[in-house]
Amino acid sequence: MSLQLLLIGGGHAHLGVLELLARRQRSGIDVTLVSASSAQVYSGMLPGHLAGHYTYEQCAIPLDPLCETARADFVRARVVSLDLEQRVALTETGGMLPFDIVSIDIGPGPDQATISGLQHALSVRPIEQLVSTWRMLEQRFAGTPLPQTLAVIGGGPAGTELVAAMAWRAREANLQLKPSIIAGNGGLLPGMPRGTARLMRKRLTALGVRVIESDAQSVRPNAVTIGGAGEFHADVIIAATGAAAWAWPRQSGLKCDGRGFIEVNTHLQSVSHPFVFAAGDCASMVNHPHPKSGVYAVRAGPPLGENLLRALTRRPLVAHRPQKRALYLLSAGGQDAVGVWGPLVFDGAWVWRWKDRIDRRFVGRFNPRA
Ligand SMILES: Cc1cc2nc3c(=O)[nH]c(=O)nc-3n(C[C@H](O)[C@H](O)[C@H](O)COP(=O)(O)OP(=O)(O)OC[C@H]3O[C@@H](n4cnc5c(N)ncnc54)[C@H](O)[C@@H]3O)c2cc1C
Repeated sequence: MSLQLLLIGGGHAHLGVLELLARRQRSGIDVTLVSASSAQVYSGMLPGHLAGHYTYEQCAIPLDPLCETARADFVRARVVSLDLEQRVALTETGGMLPFDIVSIDIGPGPDQATISGLQHALSVRPIEQLVSTWRMLEQRFAGTPLPQTLAVIGGGPAGTELVAAMAWRAREANLQLKPSIIAGNGGLLPGMPRGTARLMRKRLTALGVRVIESDAQSVRPNAVTIGGAGEFHADVIIAATGAAAWAWPRQSGLKCDGRGFIEVNTHLQSVSHPFVFAAGDCASMVNHPHPKSGVYAVRAGPPLGENLLRALTRRPLVAHRPQKRALYLLSAGGQDAVGVWGPLVFDGAWVWRWKDRIDRRFVGRFNPRA
């Protein structure tokens, strides 16, 4: 009987696994990818899509054809738990997917805990939901005589890129939108060199975005309470407050860190269950902690694929050492970006063109029709 390899989540690391599987000869191993959506939106191009620079097709990677090339089955379903004794994954609709080895790359879930009432805000996750909600909001903002207020909570890269993209789109499409970002006491882009925030603030201000550098303390429908400044009314509130863990891996019995992310060793293998592997934002490398970002998820793909095949054929696993530093290219609304490499900060249209080339090449690797 064939061995069963189950990949849960069509995230950035599993794209690399499928690419590797397509190149390798194998026999006696059946592979199944189960993912909640039929396409993976490349997060690097998401702000560009929301701003109107890319169509959905240009930044989405359909999973079914990718599986076909890798000689894997694709199942569209959301996994809700693992039975680690029986080695079966259970889906939302009652399906059962057996495995000998399982790999999890489900990304982060919506953050509903860091601020009270956050469930009243739209979350940036799942990304497909954000994309369809933005489409609906665009129509709403276009058809109203009164300006609508938008508040994005979270001053990290995701919140900053999102508000810039939405403000740009509003200006270009003449949408009635007054955007704000509630960046927190740490200000815009904390943890990045100081010049990054200065360059991004200049662009946000030019796009008419109000930057509020105070903590959001609580959220209720259409209002955010801001430290020292009282209540802030917003017609639409989007939470970009950082990565939160899905509950089911911990509930299934996998050892997780204090925030609920699956603890893995240098082989990207669960520290509690050696037949379980995990990578991307849902995993926490115990010996090599690193930021949760798509760059690290992408880089984990090839070593993860190698180790999954080795684990199935009982060969020694290879170690994965994430890079110490990642290049960040933050889109600034228009065809303009701010880049960060260690202490270096740079900006301008050339940074956007560079980012555009990298991003298109990445998606083109997996979706020749993009
Ligand atoms: C607006 C924004 C902009 C960003 N820009 C950048 C950037 O420029 N560069 C960068 O490096 N990072 C960026 N990030 C961060 C980046 O999105 C994440 O770090 C990256 O997506 C993590 O990849 P992943 O493979 O862990 O998971 P994901 O990309 O989230 O993929 C997870 C997949 O698993 C599926 N899934 C989830 N749960 C289940 C389940 N229970 N069962 C089955 N399938 C499931 C999902 O549908 C999804 O397809 C950005 C994030 C946002 C929100």
